[in-house]
Amino acid sequence: LVNIFWFRRDLRLQDNAGLYHALSSRLPVLPLFIYDKNILSQLPDRDDARVTFIHRTLNQLNENLKTVHSSLLIKHNPPVQAFHQLLTEFNVQEVFANEDYEPYARIRDSEVESILQEQNIPFKRFKDHVIFEKNEVAKDSGQPYTVYTPYKKRWMDLLQPSLHFKPYPNSKHFQNFYRHHYGNSFSLADLGFTESKIPLPEKSYRPVLANYANTRDYPAIEGTSKIGIHLRFGTISVRELAAGANLHSSVWLSELIWREFYSMILWNFPESATRSFKKEYENIRWRNNEEEFAAWCEGRTGYPIVDAGMRQLNQTGWMHNRVRMIVASFLCKHLLIDWRWGEAYFARKLLDYDMASNVGGWQWAAGTGNDAAPYFRIFNPDLQTKKFDPELVYIKKWVPEFADPFKYPSPIVDHRFARQRALETYKAGLQDL
Ligand code: FAD
Repeated sequence: LVNIFWFRRDLRLQDNAGLYHALSSRLPVLPLFIYDKNILSQLPDRDDARVTFIHRTLNQLNENLKTVHSSLLIKHNPPVQAFHQLLTEFNVQEVFANEDYEPYARIRDSEVESILQEQNIPFKRFKDHVIFEKNEVAKDSGQPYTVYTPYKKRWMDLLQPSLHFKPYPNSKHFQNFYRHHYGNSFSLADLGFTESKIPLPEKSYRPVLANYANTRDYPAIEGTSKIGIHLRFGTISVRELAAGANLHSSVWLSELIWREFYSMILWNFPESATRSFKKEYENIRWRNNEEEFAAWCEGRTGYPIVDAGMRQLNQTGWMHNRVRMIVASFLCKHLLIDWRWGEAYFARKLLDYDMASNVGGWQWAAGTGNDAAPYFRIFNPDLQTKKFDPELVYIKKWVPEFADPFKYPSPIVDHRFARQRALETYKAGLQDL
C-alpha cells in the first residue's frame, strides 16, 4: 500500500506543501511525474526550452531522491490514462498534489479526481504556488477584487509572516519515500524533443533586491531577479522568496503580489484567458495583418526598442518587463493586432511563461483587462526609449545595426498615424455596443 505525491509545477523536495503532507502520512510515498501528452503535443517547437528545463530538473530530483533510496516514477501519457495504469500497478491509498489554478489544470484535476473517487481514493490538494489563493483575499462581500491596489492592501492586511512564510520541514520525513529505483526512464528524444540551445537560468537568483526599486525599469541594467522560470516550475518556494522580499524590498514584494493578483483573477474568471476582461472590448476590429505580425515577432518593425525586446525574447526566452509592456502595447495599438496573438507568441517563447501573468500583462497593455491602462494612453516607443534606455545601451546590444539605414528597416508605421488610427478603432469598437 502506498500514497502517491504527484509533482506538477512544484519540482522541489524542500518546503513543498503537498509533499510535506504526503510524507507526514504513515504510508510510503511514491513520487510521480507525468509528462502530459496533452500539453507536449501542443507545443509548436521541438526544442522547447521549458521541456529541457523540466527534463534536467527531474534528473536533479532523481539524484536527490537517490540519497534516500527512492526515485521518481515517470509516465508519458495523458494524466487520466497514467492514473488508470497506476491503479493497476499499485495499491494506492491517497494521492497528494499541490493546487494548479489554470483552466486546463482544473479540468485535468477534476477528471483525475473522478477516476480516483471510483476506487474511494482521496485526491488531496494543497496551496503551495502562492501565499494567498483563490478567494482568500476577497472583498468584505466575498466578491473578488478586480483592481490591484485594494487587493494588495487587503493582501498585506491578511499577511502574518510567521504563519504564511513558514517553510515546510520536508526533510524531516524523507525516510518515508517509497524505496525503489526506476531511474529517469525517458530521454528528451523519447519524448519527441531535442535539447534547447537557449541557456537556462541558474537556480540562485541574483541579489538585486537592495537596488531593485531604482533599477528595475531600465532594461540595460541587470536589475531584476530572473526568477520567473523557477516560480513557474516551483524549483524555488514562493514562501522563501516572499519572506526575503518582505525584509529587503517592498517594491519587489509588490511584484510578487501582482503575480498573486493575476492568479486570483484567472481562478475567479477562467474565461478571461481568451476573452477580454471588459466585455465591451470584444468588439474591437483588429487589423490582424499577418506580415506585420511576422515583422513584430522577428524584431524588424523599424522601432528599435520594440525590435530589441523581440530579439531578446527570441534569443534568450526572457524579456525585460518594461520592454514587455512596450512591445505588447505596440502590437495591440500601433499594429492593431489582437492581444491573443501576442499572448500566444509569448506563451511559445517565454521561459517564465505563466498563463495568469501573461494574459494579465497582455490585457493590461491592450486596455481590455481589469485594472488596465485606459485605451487612450498609447506608449510612444521613442519617448519610452528616451526615458528608459537613454544611452541606447539595450538597443545597441540587441539591434546592433539600428543606426545604419541600409541595414535597418524604416518604421513599419508612422507613430502619429498609428496613434490616431488606434484611438479611432477603439472608440468605434466601444460604440458598436
Ligand atoms: P522581477 O522583476 O525580479 O520580479 C520577480 C517576480 O515577480 C517575477 O519573476 C514574477 O513572478 C513576479 N512579477 C514581476 N512583475 C510582475 C507582473 N507585472 N505581473 C505578474 N508577476 C510579476 N510574468 C510571468 O511570470 N510570466 C509571464 O508569462 C508574463 N508575461 C507578461 C506579459 C506582458 C505583456 C507583460 C507586460 C508582463 C508579463 N509578465 C509575466 C510580468 C513580468 O514582466 C515578468 O514577471 C518579469 O519581467 C520577469 O522577470 P524577473 O523574474 O526578473 O522579474
